[in-house]
Amino acid sequence: MTARIIDGKEVAAKLRATLAARIATLPFAPGLRVVRVGDDPASGVYVRNKDKAAKTAGFDSATLQLPESTSEAELLALVEQLNNDPAVDGILVQLPLPKQINAQRVLETIDPAKDVDGFHAVNAGRLATGQKGLVPCTPKGVMHLLAEAGTSLAGARAVVLGRSNIVGKPMAALLLAADATVTVVHSRTRDLAAECRRAEVLIAAVGKPEMVKGDWIAEGATVIDVGINRLPDGRLVGDVAFNEAIGHAGAITPVPGGVGPMTIACLLENTLEAALGRRGVAG
Ligand code: NDP
Repeated sequence: MTARIIDGKEVAAKLRATLAARIATLPFAPGLRVVRVGDDPASGVYVRNKDKAAKTAGFDSATLQLPESTSEAELLALVEQLNNDPAVDGILVQLPLPKQINAQRVLETIDPAKDVDGFHAVNAGRLATGQKGLVPCTPKGVMHLLAEAGTSLAGARAVVLGRSNIVGKPMAALLLAADATVTVVHSRTRDLAAECRRAEVLIAAVGKPEMVKGDWIAEGATVIDVGINRLPDGRLVGDVAFNEAIGHAGAITPVPGGVGPMTIACLLENTLEAALGRRGVAG
């Protein structure tokens, strides 16, 4: 079997176009503010891409750049100011933050109604209890890709590899909400390969280059590779050994060009949802 490639760039472009069309009908431009502290080079490219995608789709987007030496109190004061600004619908504080700042405290200060990263405990709690809220962008993007791939989730055996708060846990909650039978595996799991082999839907989010081998994948499974790993030779690879997996999976996402493009598109989707939610307009 040769797997069908799920093209994240195409799905993301389609989602961005849908959002742009919706925004064109609104009497206001949803406001997104991305706060960046210091100059971590990896996040710099990402922040510029977010800003460009947001502006192209019709959002009122701006990046607020603060110096590396910013204190926690200064950052919290800025977040409060954005919380109180009626023109701002979405606030995203780019991680990582410098050492002097407690990231958790900052994330918990963002108004949950403007928390477009979906990292606030209130939004995590809503997701865990099946209530409407803002959902973390990467797992939300994975759900779009599964829908586009035509993967049926109700009753399916889904395995999530990784249990972080930003990917693994919300991913498991979304799959459970879609009626999949969900297993979460992690660094203390006894036989990872055996657990993965049972999966009809396998989501890999570990951050270990090509850890998931071809023979870990059940014939015909849908494989979504969230991992982004830079090899010493400069190549970007996922958590799945793509060239092996393609001979077993039914459908698979590439790296790059799979989940990555969906994350920004879902950030924009969340910003639009936040803007409509704050104004009491149905999505
Ligand atoms: P974390 O480091 O926060 O979590 C990794 C998870 O993988 C942990 O639960 C850890 O287990 C588990 N793990 C690590 N090593 C192993 C191992 N050898 N065997 C089994 N489980 C293991 O990472 P993130 O969730 O933030 O990110 C995961 C990957 O996804 C990274 O490559 C990251 O770059 C990528 N990513 C991609 C995004 C995108 O837009 N495409 C967005 C966000 C992340 P334990 O809890 O037991 O330590």
